[in-house]
Amino acid sequence: MGEQAGQEGARLAIVGAGPAGLMAAEAAVQAGVQVDVYDAMPSAGRKFLLAGRGGLNLTHSEAPERFLTRLRPQQPALEAMVRGFSPEALRAWAASLGIETFVGTSGRVFPTDMKAAPLLRAWLHRLRAAGVRFHMRHRWEGWDGAGRPVFSTPGGTQSIDCAALVLALGGGSWARLGSDGAWVPVLQEAGVAVRPLQPSNCGFDVEGGWTPFFTERHAGQPFKSVAIEFGGVRRKGEFVATASGVEGSLVYAFSADLREAIARDGQATLSLDLLPDRDAAFVLREVTHPRGSRSLSSHLRGRLGLEGIKMAMLHERLPREAVQDPARLAAAIKALPVTLSAPRPIDEAISSAGGVEWSALDERLMLRARPGVFCAGEMLDWEAPTGGYLLTATMATGRVAGEGAAHWLVQGQAKRPQAADAA
Ligand SMILES: Cc1cc2nc3c(=O)[nH]c(=O)nc-3n(C[C@H](O)[C@H](O)[C@H](O)COP(=O)(O)OP(=O)(O)OC[C@H]3O[C@@H](n4cnc5c(N)ncnc54)[C@H](O)[C@@H]3O)c2cc1C
Repeated sequence: MGEQAGQEGARLAIVGAGPAGLMAAEAAVQAGVQVDVYDAMPSAGRKFLLAGRGGLNLTHSEAPERFLTRLRPQQPALEAMVRGFSPEALRAWAASLGIETFVGTSGRVFPTDMKAAPLLRAWLHRLRAAGVRFHMRHRWEGWDGAGRPVFSTPGGTQSIDCAALVLALGGGSWARLGSDGAWVPVLQEAGVAVRPLQPSNCGFDVEGGWTPFFTERHAGQPFKSVAIEFGGVRRKGEFVATASGVEGSLVYAFSADLREAIARDGQATLSLDLLPDRDAAFVLREVTHPRGSRSLSSHLRGRLGLEGIKMAMLHERLPREAVQDPARLAAAIKALPVTLSAPRPIDEAISSAGGVEWSALDERLMLRARPGVFCAGEMLDWEAPTGGYLLTATMATGRVAGEGAAHWLVQGQAKRPQAADAA
């Protein structure tokens, strides 16, 4: 049991067996440190496995300068960490586990079989072979009076001895997979500045909701090949209508800006282009083309290919008189205002924004308020869109924290973390 391991001398406890914690374990064990990994769940990497369900997007192949613009807020320390564990390095690392990768048409990088499970299996096997010990169903609760990390376990509450601690506890989405954000008040009480966790890469509710007719017929259907413009940025892609609003990759790409606008203004109105490959003049010409006895729907279907959810959206969001007015209808097809009133709850989000503030950390990701305690992964204050950026930055920070903890131990400053300033 890890509880006795402290007798062997300096050792590192890592809490969180997600990709950040596992990468920290790998970096530390390579540096010759004895590592024990703890996790509240019965098995490791549950969110990572879920990420593999829709095709594990490990990283992105775009140029580093462009890649780094995806991370926000702009943070030189994080950028340096991602430069130190680049997409190429990540692909080479996957290959070292026997997992070959390919670049998809979008530039996103996936394992050839698209799955997370074989990679996780090989990774855990390699870590165990290197001596890393795993302690599942150990939920970190904070520190005891002597400054030792405290866990609730099936056998009761236990404090452990360790010479350094890495926290890789994840963000606040999909709590049932383990990362529930319960660490936020614990770290705040320990004097660590934490920005509140918020949904990122999330869906949004439309103002006033959809009509029951629209929800019944179209919830779950995709808007294919459309464009969204918001805040002066325009992107093409796809998203999905939900029972109360919108979600999907194109919406996620705007989610940080939309969330911030809603927090500031109470709502946010995006502009939806239902025919991004047609210019406004063409659309107006086709809409105004005499339609004879044809219904408006079959006219628009025949001349512009507008049908299904796209047609329904026009009826849903436009007053009747605008639908009957060719100029207004044509303008709406190219720029339909859609007002969003709230992000969906954080538990539904792909990831979370907020977390441990950068000012609370040194360049090795050690907490200034808690020498010997390091943080990594999604629990740090950064966010990124989907596209492989999340896992890349998660693993890059895990690596820095693991190396930082090993360095701390090797430097011989290792004593029980925070023993001096324990409550
Ligand atoms: C549906 C979905 C699909 C995704 N797809 C992708 C994708 O394709 N590409 C991509 O880049 N990213 C994707 N992501 C995001 C990615 O999975 C996360 O950003 C990543 O898992 C974060 O890693 P982490 O190690 O920081 O945290 P997590 O993976 O959340 O791991 C944190 C670990 O800490 C444990 N823990 C938390 N609190 C405690 C505690 N108090 N005590 C003990 N243990 C604790 C948890 O049980 C968990 O095992 C996806 C996310 C979701 C939800």
